[in-house]
Amino acid sequence: MDDSKKETYSDRFAPLEMNTDAFRELGHELVDRVADFLAALPERPVTTGESPSKIRSLLGESPLPQQGTDAKTLLKETANLLFDHSLFNGHPKFWGYITSSAAPIGILGDFLAATINPNVGAWNLSPVASEIERQTIKWIAEMVGYPVDCGGLLVSGGNMANFVGFLAGRYAKAGWDVRAIGQSSPEAKRLRVYASAETHTWINKAADMFGLGTDSIRWIQTDADLRMETDLLKAQIDNDLKSGDKPFLVVGTAGSVSTGVTDPLVEIAKICREYDLWFHADGAYGALAACLPDAESDLKALSEADSVALDPHKWLYAPLEAGCTLVRDSKILRDTFSYQPPYYKFDEVGGEPTIVYNEYGPQNSRGFRALKVWLALKQVGRSGYERMISDDIKLAQELYQLADQHPELQAFSHHLSITTFRYVPEALKQTHEERETYLNQLNTEILTRLQEGGEAFVSNAMIAGKYVLRACIVNFRTNLRDIEALPEIIVRIGRIVHAELQPNH
Ligand SMILES: *Cc1c(COP(=O)(O)O)cnc(C)c1O
Repeated sequence: MDDSKKETYSDRFAPLEMNTDAFRELGHELVDRVADFLAALPERPVTTGESPSKIRSLLGESPLPQQGTDAKTLLKETANLLFDHSLFNGHPKFWGYITSSAAPIGILGDFLAATINPNVGAWNLSPVASEIERQTIKWIAEMVGYPVDCGGLLVSGGNMANFVGFLAGRYAKAGWDVRAIGQSSPEAKRLRVYASAETHTWINKAADMFGLGTDSIRWIQTDADLRMETDLLKAQIDNDLKSGDKPFLVVGTAGSVSTGVTDPLVEIAKICREYDLWFHADGAYGALAACLPDAESDLKALSEADSVALDPHKWLYAPLEAGCTLVRDSKILRDTFSYQPPYYKFDEVGGEPTIVYNEYGPQNSRGFRALKVWLALKQVGRSGYERMISDDIKLAQELYQLADQHPELQAFSHHLSITTFRYVPEALKQTHEERETYLNQLNTEILTRLQEGGEAFVSNAMIAGKYVLRACIVNFRTNLRDIEALPEIIVRIGRIVHAELQPNH
């Protein structure tokens, strides 16, 4: 390097660097705008309902800019773009799918986490962060009644959390060294996994991605309440054993994605013990409700599972993304994923053993997801969460009653914080079959209009062939007035759509 260059490089100020005053000013401005945005959220529509082409046109089609932009202008314009054209799951009337409002302390936590930017793949790269994750896992286990000496880690969400449990089960129960020889060698039998038809599609992805194939899934029928029929489960396992297959895993859902029901987990746990199968509980949505003193016994029985998946970005109100897997035997979790290559030597520091998170899951470099979850747990404690979760459930129950009492609404179900119902016009003259087809069409259109209109946001479920509207309240901003407003909104849209679809009525 010649001397003139040396001068340039010793005073290096990289294009991405920001001086202290500028950072402070931009940060304060952004925080002010975020605070105003949060305050105004209830008065805004849930969504603007703009078309994909409209949204795309906001960004324009220009190629990657050659030159940069002033950071102050850029942040201001980007905040405008997002505030003016997003769907807000933090809105008090957002009840779609299973997506929670994000806790304000989680918003700040992500900011702080990105500042330190620890790599929580290994202890020595993330000393405090690794210990915060370990404590978070322990507290979550405690909250849902799971053994606190379990293994566990945070992942991106429910799908990933379930994959981790699935792989731990396959490693533990295959009966051969599945990590080394896979599933197609002569020693390998046909692996079988059991799940009810209400199971979330993560199970299809898992069977596919991990080489079993979706045909290896035995779909067990559900009863009238959409809970797995355990007699049929046993019969199917017996059959598969007779044919020389290798049953290894039963999935029980704690709070199903469409109606919030919990499988008979007490019975499933018993069957898994009897047949020496891995019991995985998918509690992505419902597991955290096991913290309530009056939780039903099947929900509490997730404490008997060999592994549990749950989503802090659902009922712990963490900003996306945060999923979590708990595995009863932490050695099994580690043995499912661990490699110790010569270029990593992480598992002790100064003679003390450490937790090396890259050995407990599929990720290598890992972000500091735990901070936002840990902060919220510390901010409100167990009692704060018990109150928020039980309030969500009570509000969903109230919605069920309002729908049930309304002459133009038909209530279907209420489990945990999910309520299903549909709009039914007062005088419908068709025969039964035509009527059902028409009601499906009518409610589909009502949902489309509601979702685009932005007054409130719900999603849908199919219950025995019936298209129903579905409100899932994992939203600490929702109050009773928000819930009371929903029936009238639905009925108003319902009347308009009905008049359009059936001009003669
Ligand atoms: C939400 C959910 C999932 C998927 O979780 P993601 O966080 O969306 O990946 C899986 N199972 C159940 C029961 C769920 O509610």
